[in-house]
Amino acid sequence: MVSSQARLAVFGVALHALLIYAMFDVHFLTPLVHGMEPTTADFAAPASRLVVIVADGLRADRLFELEDAPGDDPDAPRVPRAPFLHGVAKSRGRWGISHARPPTESRPGHVALLAGFYEDPSAITKGWQANAVEFDHLLNQSSAAWALGAPSVVPLFAKGIEHVRHRMYAEELEDFAASNDHAALDEWVFDRTIEILDGRSLSAEDEANGRSRDTERAALEGERVVFLLHLLGLDSAGHAHKPFGDAYAQNVKTVDDGVRRLVDAFERRFDQTPRDGGTTFLFTADHGMSSRGAHGDGDPGCTETPFVAWGAGIPAAADAAADDACAPRGKDAPTPRDAWGLEDKERCDVDQADVASLGASVLGMPPPTHNAGSLPVSYLDPAMPSARSGAALANAEQLLAVYRRKAAVAARASLTAFATPGGLRPYAPLAGANETLAAAKHARVEGDHDAAVDAAQALARACVDGTTYLHLYDRRLLLWTIASCFLGWIGVLLAELATEGRETKRQVCRVIHTRATAIAVGVSCAACAVLASRRAPATYYAYFTLPAWFARRAFLAFASAAEAGTERFYKRREAVELLATAVAATALARTLCAAFHDRRVFSYLFAATAAALVAYAARAATAKRRRARGVARAAAVSALFAAAGAGALAPFTLLSIDLEANTALVVAGVACTALVGLLSHFALRPLDVFGDDPEDADADAAGGARRPGYKLLVVQLSLLWCAGLVVWMVDGLQGAKASIPAWLHACAWAIAAGAMPLPLLSPPRVVPRFASVYLAAATAYALFSVSYESLFYAALGFASLAWLVLERHVQKLAAADALFDGDKTRLGSRVAESNADAAVTFATSSVERDADKSVARHAATFLALINAAFFGTGNIASVASFEISSVYRFTTRFNPFLMGALLMLKVLVPMITVAVAFLCLLKLRATPPFPAYLVFIALSDLMSVTFFFEVTTEGSWQDIGMSISRYALMGTQVVTILVFLGLADAYAAAIPTRGVVARRAGNDAGKKTR
Ligand SMILES: [Zn+2]
Repeated sequence: MVSSQARLAVFGVALHALLIYAMFDVHFLTPLVHGMEPTTADFAAPASRLVVIVADGLRADRLFELEDAPGDDPDAPRVPRAPFLHGVAKSRGRWGISHARPPTESRPGHVALLAGFYEDPSAITKGWQANAVEFDHLLNQSSAAWALGAPSVVPLFAKGIEHVRHRMYAEELEDFAASNDHAALDEWVFDRTIEILDGRSLSAEDEANGRSRDTERAALEGERVVFLLHLLGLDSAGHAHKPFGDAYAQNVKTVDDGVRRLVDAFERRFDQTPRDGGTTFLFTADHGMSSRGAHGDGDPGCTETPFVAWGAGIPAAADAAADDACAPRGKDAPTPRDAWGLEDKERCDVDQADVASLGASVLGMPPPTHNAGSLPVSYLDPAMPSARSGAALANAEQLLAVYRRKAAVAARASLTAFATPGGLRPYAPLAGANETLAAAKHARVEGDHDAAVDAAQALARACVDGTTYLHLYDRRLLLWTIASCFLGWIGVLLAELATEGRETKRQVCRVIHTRATAIAVGVSCAACAVLASRRAPATYYAYFTLPAWFARRAFLAFASAAEAGTERFYKRREAVELLATAVAATALARTLCAAFHDRRVFSYLFAATAAALVAYAARAATAKRRRARGVARAAAVSALFAAAGAGALAPFTLLSIDLEANTALVVAGVACTALVGLLSHFALRPLDVFGDDPEDADADAAGGARRPGYKLLVVQLSLLWCAGLVVWMVDGLQGAKASIPAWLHACAWAIAAGAMPLPLLSPPRVVPRFASVYLAAATAYALFSVSYESLFYAALGFASLAWLVLERHVQKLAAADALFDGDKTRLGSRVAESNADAAVTFATSSVERDADKSVARHAATFLALINAAFFGTGNIASVASFEISSVYRFTTRFNPFLMGALLMLKVLVPMITVAVAFLCLLKLRATPPFPAYLVFIALSDLMSVTFFFEVTTEGSWQDIGMSISRYALMGTQVVTILVFLGLADAYAAAIPTRGVVARRAGNDAGKKTR
């Protein structure tokens, strides 16, 4: 029995790991194909060198905005925050918004800008430090390049390429602390670049590579030279002080001034060379920043980055209005003319990946091999029509090469193509691609450059669409296959519950058994043969064979139940209850799914729960029951407390998730937690609701009627207040922009680490043990809290405790009622009536019972509470993006792995508290935990399937990213819940099983009941 449960659990974990991984096979396929035909470009390069300046984390609005003029005159006209770049945008260059795509992170942003394609979201995990260059990009194609900036970005484009020189500052400088001067990082990059231009800088590595001042000068004065300047300051300033803070605005000014100095230095350096003015500047950002100082998602603050281009080959902004090429560029919202002082009709937007082909074009090169962007021709000077049409043609030819290569790969590998008569259907609009290309080339030769550009751009767009079409070719098939894996698995879980894990073989006729197995084997073999012939990835074998085996298992279970005529399933009353449970479960799953979209749903859910509990309390208190009146009244009171707990949780999911730092709220949360801890010890413990907390034998020795655990309570409360003090001190220093001393960070670590093992010392009784876990977790959680989180945690703990007390009373009432029902059958109703007035007493029992219907209620409540614990203070986006301020009490040094781990802990702490409450409840119910897990997992998977069908590849990038995150999160929950319960079990294991037995007073023949 145990081994079959363990087998099922291990299989379930493996299956969910596979189904989450399936997301990579379905949605996160790398867009890259290799082995393209190389393309060429035949037009004169407008520029000799290209300078790409990437201001990491710069929002478009914060660069373009006007601000109040310095001085006291309120009537003075507003002035640009970035006077140099604003001036360039208005006069000598062109500007627009560059639209980034989620994940709005540094690596994908830089890859889009310099290589021209959008990496799959899994690229974030690939790293902050890529070792090998596995794709083509502008620096790779150059004759000589310099990359300067942060060690988290520069190596991506410099490592392993001999002609790319790099300069990086030490990693220690990437510090997110409030006191740090972030703009210094940017000054450093500008200064080093100017030194290189002046011929004053030669790194040790350069010398080792045999470079000298002469070779460097020659390289600098050559053609196809690329500079990449990565400016990390704004990203750090935005994370530390939010993008609407002064530090960020000041950093924008530093960057603007640095660009002015840089441009001066380039003009100075190259005014002697034959082609002066041969420098093109592109200024942009890899991603923006949301108002709460984070990025990663599809928030417009993150996706809308500035784009300013000027120099050789770039036309002036004033002509943009008359330039047809500018018109078709999509704008999400009109330009705020008064706020920015810029004209909407002069604005030309680009997609982030388009920047790479523009950069290649000004240097007279074809776009990078894997490029998927289409050339923004509006940024090429109409006075150079041949370069414009030549670049557009090079772009179209390169995109067509990508499409053709992808089509060849898909024809060999696609499963949908296998199932379609005639094989792969090519993208119809590209049927005449060769003719279109020839016509465009002909028009160019004839001197009709506009016609050539139009034809080439239409072809380029069709190639991008065609490549996407091929990229998604197998998606529908895979979606349905994986959905059937899920549905099959839910069927297996239900079968397990129905048969209670009993082996089905013996009960089903051997013929049916053999037939079912033969069908499953046949289907699997056929699927494997097809997959092998298409060289499908190994995971596909699982996706396409598992549904058959799940179907077999579920079919056999229900067949055996039918054959054995199991009473459970064929009693009418049971069937109605089963149906009602299924409807309720689906309704709950749908409600929680809705809460993933809109966390306010939790508020409605808790408000409705509170109302229902008040109604229950009213009924329990006023019912004309003859037995156990005292218990009924206690149940009514505990239902009122539970209603208060649900009511206390309700408001939090209405509050904003943009957590504004508020130390007072954190300290108020600490006070509330301490109060709940004190009440549970001094008000709840003396009642001994759970019958496991008697007064100590040597109570007098302990100083009166005390139970064990009071000393620990004092220690834990002190630690909790120490955590509050650390929060208060760190926030004070942070507010004063002072640096945070190392000893304060050490205190935070010591308090958090010291608090967590303390609950193991508490007496193994439900109330003191739970209260101790609650206080320990609250201590760690307070250190993570920025705003109202610690208040939420206080409410969550109170609600969990109230849940336990209420369930206990419900259990006692049920036991009393069952005792009476038992009398009715045994003694006949008249005698039973006369007995009914007799008092009922309760005793605890450690005998385990079979699971009953109430496991469904417990599992459902647990599911709702654990998700509320997750959504109470944030949503998926706030977890996916980097909310750095939560970890300031522990570290201010930028370390993505440590910070990520700390943020994970912040999410985990409230969930573990709820998990401990759930385990305590199972102990109190004296039921085996396994059926409750099965129900929990079935409910979770019901939600997973819903999210799986909601995964979209259309609509805004925010919608796409969110739909994928919801599915990933829900799929992971099934696996992570085992981790939570495992951790929680470390605390709850020592609590003994305590069921309830009802007895008639004065009657020794007690009757064990549910
Ligand atoms: Zn970045």
